[in-house]
Amino acid sequence: MVPELQGIGMTSRRTRARLIQRLRESGIGDERLLAIMEEVPRHIFLDEALSHRAYEDTALPIGHSQTLSQPYIVARMTEVLMRHNPGRVLELGTGSGYQTAILARLVKDVYSVERIKPLQDRARERLRTLGYRNVMLRLADRGIGWQEQGPFDGILVTAAPKELPRDLMMQLADGGVMVIPVGEGTQMLTQVIRRGEDFDITDIEPVRFVPLLGGVVR
Ligand code: SAH
Repeated sequence: MVPELQGIGMTSRRTRARLIQRLRESGIGDERLLAIMEEVPRHIFLDEALSHRAYEDTALPIGHSQTLSQPYIVARMTEVLMRHNPGRVLELGTGSGYQTAILARLVKDVYSVERIKPLQDRARERLRTLGYRNVMLRLADRGIGWQEQGPFDGILVTAAPKELPRDLMMQLADGGVMVIPVGEGTQMLTQVIRRGEDFDITDIEPVRFVPLLGGVVR
């Protein structure tokens, strides 16, 4: 049995199936992604006191005023990204590591950056326990993103800057895609596709994320 499925009772299995059905009804059509979201144990990425709510379609706190995104949003962002079939993906905002785990199942290599060390430590431990070997984690201690490892075929950002960050867009490979929430208060989930030195920018839908911040918390 794959490690992810160990220790899951029938209740959890049924609540997961219900969540997946709900995502499907909300318009998520990528069945490969849905199958992976059914398998990856979201409850592992939460504190024990909240793990019974892991399969609700809702954002949940992970400490340090940060949140694990709502499953629908994780699915939507991943679906948009995967339309371009990226091989190497940069994630900004490791947080709990849940989105990182979903990406690790779908793409060749995931590079994920986080600015809060205690969150990164916990995420690293969970990803190790679940056996992902194609995930590289880094603390956000110099500049935005992960310039040394770029360019990336895909960039997924799970915290919102006020404006599109040019330095991050430059870490996209030609033809690469970035999915990013932009703005203050109400934000717009935005798709950016690099075409040489130009960028095609498309609105996806309004969202609410925690702000993208500078500096590191140790
Ligand atoms: N993908 C995460 C979402 C966590 S919330 C999950 O599934 O749990 C967003 C995360 O982005 C927070 O952990 C926050 O600390 C982090 N973050 C904010 N600004 C950042 C930056 N400039 N670089 C890296 N991470 C950042």
